[in-house]
Amino acid sequence: MEFEFKHLHYTPVILPELERAGFSWWNKHFFHYKYGLISAYYGIYDFNFREKIKFPKDGILVADSGGLQSLTQNWQEEVIKILRWQERNADIALTFDITPKVNLIGGGVCNWDEFKRRCELSYRCYKIMERNRENDGLKLLKVLHGSDAKRFTYWFKRMEDVKMDGVCISPTISKDPFQVVFQLAYLLDRLEDEERTYLHILVGSPREMLPVIAYAGKFFKLTTFDSSTPYVGQKFREYIVSFNPRIKLNVKRDSKLSTSDAELPCNCPVCRKFRTFKNLTISYYGLTLHNLYKYLELVYLIDKATDIGEDFLLKLAEQISDQSRKALEALIYSVEEGFEKCYKKYYTEFMRYASIPRQGKLL
Ligand SMILES: [Zn+2]
Repeated sequence: MEFEFKHLHYTPVILPELERAGFSWWNKHFFHYKYGLISAYYGIYDFNFREKIKFPKDGILVADSGGLQSLTQNWQEEVIKILRWQERNADIALTFDITPKVNLIGGGVCNWDEFKRRCELSYRCYKIMERNRENDGLKLLKVLHGSDAKRFTYWFKRMEDVKMDGVCISPTISKDPFQVVFQLAYLLDRLEDEERTYLHILVGSPREMLPVIAYAGKFFKLTTFDSSTPYVGQKFREYIVSFNPRIKLNVKRDSKLSTSDAELPCNCPVCRKFRTFKNLTISYYGLTLHNLYKYLELVYLIDKATDIGEDFLLKLAEQISDQSRKALEALIYSVEEGFEKCYKKYYTEFMRYASIPRQGKLL
């Protein structure tokens, strides 16, 4: 069984121990899916990370820079060190950014002065990377930040003279897809056709965003995104029966199901092998891999719907949530009628996420 996608490519976070445990989807364990993401912050301790996890040559490995997490006093050296590691191991890499988010999982917004300061620091890092590239095979993407219209357009314009192979947006985690719609609509309006190359959407991407990402993906050469969604099930010991509608079963250690001989209600390669809840829950990564498979099925459906037609994609978006459908309508409207008209028409929606900025911590 192999998953191939056309418009949106999910890059699940790679845990190196999955390969040792025989659960690496990129290596045809259970099923085959040759995409993944690793942060330099976790991977850089292995010089030849790709080799170590036996990642296929024709797969797509995205390497985040580790940004803020690994910022040290020797940051110039650090940035080049990270670039070399990305060049050795990855197919797509993200520039070293100083995120203007207050906490690293995506919450909180810096005040305006701090935002501009982090933008300036990021600009210097992007320029160091631009000047020091040695491997043209690596697609290096410029990370764009900004949780509201003012911030996003400021960052976009400041980075305009940084020449990279594509862009990466980093919306704050939210079930409201209008923030990502603003960013995608703005990019589609501003980027020339030949600039619509590689696009990555960093961290988060709940299912409400999938239809808009798929639609935007039609206009880019390769669109990738990451999301912690399948791992949340592992964390809370939830067996996801279906992602849309979201139905889950509790398989926590003290739950009845976790020790039950009942057959698993799923025909995926993972469940076919483990057969019962008891067997699945004994294997630590089985649950992750089943949840990942179910998530890929949802992504697959939305990917294919994009080619069937807008009406069908809108219907699917509506099944996810009213807001998801409305967001997709807005993006389609922007592509057809232009960004300015779309911004005016959906102004209230776009303004909702531009909440009062919270004070950012100084670095
Ligand atoms: Zn399954």
